[in-house]
Amino acid sequence: MNDDDLIRALARDGVIRMTALLSLLMPASSGVGFGIKGLDGRYRLFNREMARLLGDGIERLDGKSEDELLPPAVGKQLASCERRLLDGAPAAYEEVDLPVRGQTNRYLWLKLPVVGLDEKLQSIVSIVHEVAPPPASPAMQQTLDRLQRANQELRRTVVELEQVAGTDKLTGAWNRRRLEECVRSEMDRLNRYEQPLSLLIIDIDHFKPINDQHGHVVGDQVLQALTRLLQSRLRGTDVLARWGGEEFIVLCPNTDRSTAAMLAERLRHQIERASFPVIGQLTVSIGAAECHAGDTWEEWFQRADEALYRAKAGGRNQAQLAPDAIGPASTLEYIVADFVQLVWHPAYECGNELVDRGHRQLFADANELLAAILSGGTADEVGVIVSRLIADVLQHFADEEQAIVAAGFPGATAHVVLHQELANQARHLAANYGNGRQGVGDVFQFLAYDVVTRHMLGADREFFAHLQNHAPVRKNRPPAERNRRPPRPRVR
Ligand code: GH3
Ligand code: MG
Ligand code: MG
Repeated sequence: MNDDDLIRALARDGVIRMTALLSLLMPASSGVGFGIKGLDGRYRLFNREMARLLGDGIERLDGKSEDELLPPAVGKQLASCERRLLDGAPAAYEEVDLPVRGQTNRYLWLKLPVVGLDEKLQSIVSIVHEVAPPPASPAMQQTLDRLQRANQELRRTVVELEQVAGTDKLTGAWNRRRLEECVRSEMDRLNRYEQPLSLLIIDIDHFKPINDQHGHVVGDQVLQALTRLLQSRLRGTDVLARWGGEEFIVLCPNTDRSTAAMLAERLRHQIERASFPVIGQLTVSIGAAECHAGDTWEEWFQRADEALYRAKAGGRNQAQLAPDAIGPASTLEYIVADFVQLVWHPAYECGNELVDRGHRQLFADANELLAAILSGGTADEVGVIVSRLIADVLQHFADEEQAIVAAGFPGATAHVVLHQELANQARHLAANYGNGRQGVGDVFQFLAYDVVTRHMLGADREFFAHLQNHAPVRKNRPPAERNRRPPRPRVR
């Protein structure tokens, strides 16, 4: 029988219609292979899926036999199927493992006989489809569910472990390891994008006595409360880490030294004003430093640490800024950088009670003004401080002039002239600040720099030795308390 005879025979038996229909209904994506072969064992018709199953990558399937196309073991199974058909079975099937595209899957291979009018077998139809993996038994399903849950828990634990490894157990702040990782990437960013980067080291003042007096539990509570306070006051991009013991670090991306100084002073001020569990008041000392290009982490940290040391040595409860490599860039930066807080030092005393008290008062005024500026006080609040401060400057000049004249200081006249110049400046500034023509930065610059640094710690020192060698003037004068002073001129 040639091919035409076969087709005719198929058509006669309606098989051709079935194949045509199946070919249409079973595109390759259906995943069902369909093929017909003659009694010579060679394929005559097949759909695309059958071609894929039988000989992926082989250009021509027609005319080929299963033995030629399939692994010997599969060939054997299919031959046994056909034997059963020859023995008269109406259908036969086998489950076979077929390697297709590098992956072996299990397929159900069904063979059906096509019998002619003469009742003789004419051809064999194959229908092949992949066997779905057997559904899991309930016990197996339970095990799978348990494994899945265990896996999820494991994943959660890993995340938690990472978190625990990166944070300090007591306070929840980042720990040293995590901070140092972050520092590396931030320093990298600094070098690439030249964004400023600053660091604060915050150390609790006299923490050991807190532990000694109230016990470690209270000490721990204080550390936790301080962490909460710091965290609530920092910007989202700032990183808070516990460096160890009662020492914390704030890493401030995109922050230059003057902003870091302001932040340090603001934090110091807020901590000073806060109330802590059991102990109430608490103060901290802070060292701040901006990272210089080319700095190593160790160098940068050491500069902040040295600034912290200065803050401790200077009497604690203060912020100190590490010196800049290049020098102050602007007036405001200069002010903020060098007057994060004016710290009184015994060396500033000249021995004259009145003069020393006046100097101390000006220090306090300057610090109060700075705190008000940094903590974002209202214009009215700042205005009150500015008025008082200028009045204190004028009052102090008057007191000091009296003291140096009485002590017979030879440079008294020249010093009085200096005072007059500064006093004029003070009045001018007060008026301009009052009518909004001069900002608070100018007032602070005047007080902290012109009066305190240049005048008090400069020009004034010329008469210090003289006053120390002479009997203090007006020894019995009552303390120059604020309420005993003559009424201050109203500024405005
Ligand atoms: P200074 O003003 O010079 O910083 O004095 P200080 O007492 O704060 O500093 P010092 O370094 O002498 O003492 C730090 C104390 O911090 C000693 C230690 O017992 C205490 N400390 C460190 N870690 C913890 C902690 O986890 N919990 C508690 N409660 N105390 C701690
Ligand atoms: Mg310490
Ligand atoms: Mg301490």
